Amino acid sequence: MKYFVTGGAGFIGSHLVDRLVKTGEVTVYDNFSSGKREFIQRHLSNPKFKLIEDDLLNFERLTASLKNQDVVFHLAANPEARLGIQNTRLDLEQETLATYNLLEGMRRNGVRKIVLASSGTIYGDTPVIPLPENYGPALPISLYGAGKLASEGLVSAFCGTFDFQGWIFRFSNVVGQPATHGAIYDFIHKLLADSTQLEILGNGKQAKPYLHVSDCVAGILFGFENSHEPVNLFNLGTESHTSVAAIARLVAEEMGLENVKVNFTGGERGWPGDVPQVRFNIGKIKKLGWSPRLDSDSAVRQSVKEVVRQLAAGESLCRR
Ligand code: NAD
Repeated sequence: MKYFVTGGAGFIGSHLVDRLVKTGEVTVYDNFSSGKREFIQRHLSNPKFKLIEDDLLNFERLTASLKNQDVVFHLAANPEARLGIQNTRLDLEQETLATYNLLEGMRRNGVRKIVLASSGTIYGDTPVIPLPENYGPALPISLYGAGKLASEGLVSAFCGTFDFQGWIFRFSNVVGQPATHGAIYDFIHKLLADSTQLEILGNGKQAKPYLHVSDCVAGILFGFENSHEPVNLFNLGTESHTSVAAIARLVAEEMGLENVKVNFTGGERGWPGDVPQVRFNIGKIKKLGWSPRLDSDSAVRQSVKEVVRQLAAGESLCRR
C-alpha cells in the first residue's frame, strides 16, 4: 500500500507516519510551516519513506507527487484556530483551497481514497450536550471551523461526483508530544519564561474533551480499516472533559512549581471564535468496536508528564 500523508511532519501526522511505515510505503508532503524535520528524522533513511518539502498551494508539484499513490491522509492545515482573527484569508487558503488542490490532484491521478483530519469546531457554539455526528445545522463560529466544514463538503462532493471514498474524522482537542500548539504547550512555555505567574485566556472554566495522540492515530486507523461507506464520518474524542484551569494546575504540579499566581483574562471564551464548552458523543465509532484508551483527564496528565520528562532530559521543546 502506498500512503501519501499531507502534514506528515506535524504533531499528529508524525505519529500516524510511525504506524503507516510498518505496513507500506509512505510519502510525506509538508511545507514545514508548523511541522519539524526532527519529528520524522527517524524515517529519513528508510527506503520505504519519502519526504517532499512543498506547499499544498503548489498545485503542479502536488499533482505530480500524487502519481501511483493508493490512499491520502490529509492532515496539513493551519492548526491554530485563533490565527484566523488576524489573517482572514489563512483558513480559506490552508483549508478550503489546499483541500481542493489535493482532491483535484488526486482526481487527475486516479487516486480515490482520502482520509480527512477535521475538527469538532465545525459544530459551532452548541448546547452543552454530547454531540453526535448527525447534530445540525453545523454552524462554525471560527474561520478555522468554516474551513474544516468546507473541506468536509469538498470531500463529500468528490465522493458523490467522482466515485471517491472518504473517511472524515472530527477530532476533539488532541494532546501529547511533540506538541506544536495548544493549552499544555502554551502554559509550559509561559511558565518557563516566568515560573511565578500564569496568564490564562478566558475564565478558565472552558472545558473540552482531550484525546491523547496515540488514541487519535489508533482511532483514525481503526475507522479507516473498518468502515466501507462512500463517506465515513466519525467523531474522534473522549466522552469526558477537562477544564483549562485544571490543565494549568496539572502543568504547575508536574513542573514542580508551587504558589503560581494565576491571572484569568476573563470572559467565558479564550478568544473570539473559541467554543468554550465542548462535549463529544463517540457512540458511532464505539459501536464499530473502538474506544480511546485514556479518558480526558488521563490524556492531559500523561501529555503533561511526557513534555515535562522531555524537558528534564534536557531536550528542547519543539518551538515554532
Ligand atoms: P501541526 O501543525 O502539528 O501539523 C500540521 C502540519 O501541516 C505541519 O507539519 C505543517 O507544516 C503542515 N502544513 C500546514 N500547511 C501546509 C501546506 N499549505 N502545505 C503543506 N504542508 C502544510 O498540527 P496537528 O495538531 O498535528 O494537526 C493535524 C491536523 O489535525 C490538522 O488538520 C488540524 O487542523 C487537525 N486537528 C488537530 C487538532 C489538535 O488538537 N491538534 C484538533 C482538531 C483537528
